[in-house]
Amino acid sequence: MFGLIGHLTSLDHAQAVARDLGYPEYADQGLDFWCSAPPQIVDTIKVTSATGQQIEGRYVESCFLPEMLAARRIKAATRKILNAMAHAQKNGIDITALGGFSSIIFENFNLNRFRQVRNTELEFERFTTGNTHTAYIICRQIEAAAKIGINLSEATVAVCGATGDIGSAVCRWLTQKTDIKDLLLVARNQERISLLQEELGRGIAMPLEVALPKADIVVWVASMAKGVDIDPKSLKQPCLMIDGGYPKNIATHFNAPGIYGLNGGIVEHMLDIDWKIMGIVNMDVPARQLFACFAESMLLEFEKWYTNFSWGRNQITVEKMERIGEASVRHGFKPLMEFSAG
Ligand code: NDP
Repeated sequence: MFGLIGHLTSLDHAQAVARDLGYPEYADQGLDFWCSAPPQIVDTIKVTSATGQQIEGRYVESCFLPEMLAARRIKAATRKILNAMAHAQKNGIDITALGGFSSIIFENFNLNRFRQVRNTELEFERFTTGNTHTAYIICRQIEAAAKIGINLSEATVAVCGATGDIGSAVCRWLTQKTDIKDLLLVARNQERISLLQEELGRGIAMPLEVALPKADIVVWVASMAKGVDIDPKSLKQPCLMIDGGYPKNIATHFNAPGIYGLNGGIVEHMLDIDWKIMGIVNMDVPARQLFACFAESMLLEFEKWYTNFSWGRNQITVEKMERIGEASVRHGFKPLMEFSAG
């Protein structure tokens, strides 16, 4: 059985969803309540592969909300993730994806120090960040640029969040598998940028406001668009913006002619999935569309690869991306390729 650990995008969103899902006692509660709410299994999922194989999974709502980080309630935030992991394990789930901010919190706060959660000793090999599949899907989505007349061999690609787990994997793929003209690396920590440049043997580091007007394609894997204050008219036309962050907010930010937005790291399955949870996170086709990281746990279950396929930071290789990519195609997933035009 596979599992997905997820969370909602804001307190308002959580209250609305609680009402819809039939938990009225959660619907009128503030952040304090969500900080103490235990994880819950709120959905049972059935997926049929393109091969005809069927698998079953569970969606675990961690009750984490991004406001917990903003309010510096770090202990609550980290407890949410560990408790959700323990809940998944206790419920016999073999392989669970850490969706949304879950894997980032796990890594940033070194939660691998806390194996013991009350009477459960966490078995980390039962969990995956899902980032290898996410990075693979984003790389495939870069191919959509051809549809708006951007030729990859003449394109400048900016990766915002280049030194992160997903961003560095995207950079490796672009370096090894494509002939793009220029690769621009956007991130704050200079030391990590230098290490990445050394590894890739290419890549020009620059601040976001310098990189954006030079780019034909921008890959956003840093979740930071709220703080971006750049006139969309200064961007190239056409320009493809692949929004790999969570929540998705780039399309509304750069709403201008010639700017095309694509929901990054999202896959569509060829058959309807029996679940209700993706409607709640506002997918356009809720029965078939999902985050690539969630799909990774489904793929590991289909293939019976019961291992933490994606784990730790900046360890994603092109070979592993190809391997999960082949499984993705085999079981009927494809990258979302429809974009919004400004
Ligand atoms: P990481 O924490 O590993 O990497 C974040 C990157 O962003 C780092 O390079 C960091 O470098 C950079 N960054 C952060 N803030 C800024 C800033 N203000 N300016 C410039 N660079 C910045 O994250 P992941 O790679 O794990 O995840 C990235 C995104 O992908 C997240 O938004 C996550 O929610 C989303 N995601 C989507 C999935 C899907 O299925 N669609 C699955 C998993 C994640 P530095 O700190 O040096 O600036």
